Amino acid sequence: MRLVRQFTRAPERRGRVGERFRPEIARAVLAWFRHARRPLPWRASRDPYRIWVAEVLLQQTRVEQAAPYFERFVRRFPDVASLARAPTQQVLKAWEGAGYYARARRLRQAAGILVREHGGALPRTVDALERLPGVGAYTARAIGALAFDLPVVPLDANVLRVAARWAREERDVGRRAVQEELRARLERSIPSGASGAFAEGLMELGELVCRPRRPRCDACPVAFGCRAYRELAAPGRLPRSTRRPARPHVRAAVVALRHGSRWLVQRRPAGGLLGGLWEFPGGKLERGERPVDAARRELREETGVAVGRLAPVGVVRHGYSHFTVELHVFEGRARAMSSPARGRRWATLAEISRLPLPRATGKILGALRARRPRTHGRPPGRTSPGSR
Ligand code: SF4
Repeated sequence: MRLVRQFTRAPERRGRVGERFRPEIARAVLAWFRHARRPLPWRASRDPYRIWVAEVLLQQTRVEQAAPYFERFVRRFPDVASLARAPTQQVLKAWEGAGYYARARRLRQAAGILVREHGGALPRTVDALERLPGVGAYTARAIGALAFDLPVVPLDANVLRVAARWAREERDVGRRAVQEELRARLERSIPSGASGAFAEGLMELGELVCRPRRPRCDACPVAFGCRAYRELAAPGRLPRSTRRPARPHVRAAVVALRHGSRWLVQRRPAGGLLGGLWEFPGGKLERGERPVDAARRELREETGVAVGRLAPVGVVRHGYSHFTVELHVFEGRARAMSSPARGRRWATLAEISRLPLPRATGKILGALRARRPRTHGRPPGRTSPGSR
């Protein structure tokens, strides 16, 4: 009878303190997850270190993209001690391409703390995990549930969506109070001794079945207990979405300044966006400014070098999570190799490729390499159409 009342309760009474989802729902999630579970590389063991690295990676990288980055990183740094010992530049290089490089720096910083204060092991409480750099409430709960089977549920977008649909939550799930209510309700629904599998099953269900726009309710193992499915014509309209603002678009000009076989590169400041990574000099276009003029101005302002002719290489486009960039790339010849200031160096293309680079700089490097055979022995700029 209690279940019947739950399905007919007025929306404002839902989510009251102490409520939980039906035990059959949680059991159905576990049963489904046992056979639907994808063989992702971080699921190969319950090693807390690997789970930690994976969860940090997955904070801003999609599951299907994360696997090769994860494998490269844990191959290079197989445990806390090896990560704690590594120079920052090596850690950034191993993280290259995954984006949000502050995550890699904080991983290394946290590894140092683990070695100094926790005997090289991850702590086994959510509070202690949350005190580590780069570990927020979500990641601490994910490590707690997956590595140590603590009775907690990490509430990512997938899990939040699933819970909101089960509960037919009509309120804005962007509100912290609503999230806390749903999380507490899920945590009260954890089957005994199965926190990790329940958390992973919820994530997997949200990723594979209870998708944001078109949930696959016909294939859902918990449709029998889902209020959105049972009561709404279109369950996919929940949870109420708050529209994401469009990503800003940045137009910038970059100079690949060359002397012989060496190119001038510089390291970005440690604290900011893409901090500690290496790139060619350049910067944003000013309003109404031509890319070639911006390239010349930025080079002069950043390095003090005044360059003559700039040959267009092409336009490199890249989408980061929070913005997109359009880089107008030019090649210039330096008359001499000025002695570089701190954080700058002259390097061959092979040497540059071994430095930690933003994805867009990697693309520029590819464009420069592709040009080399065609431009060999000719004045630069004659062979490749560029953009201004
Ligand atoms: S029945 Fe549909 S809306 Fe409900 S949890 Fe399953 S997939 Fe999601």
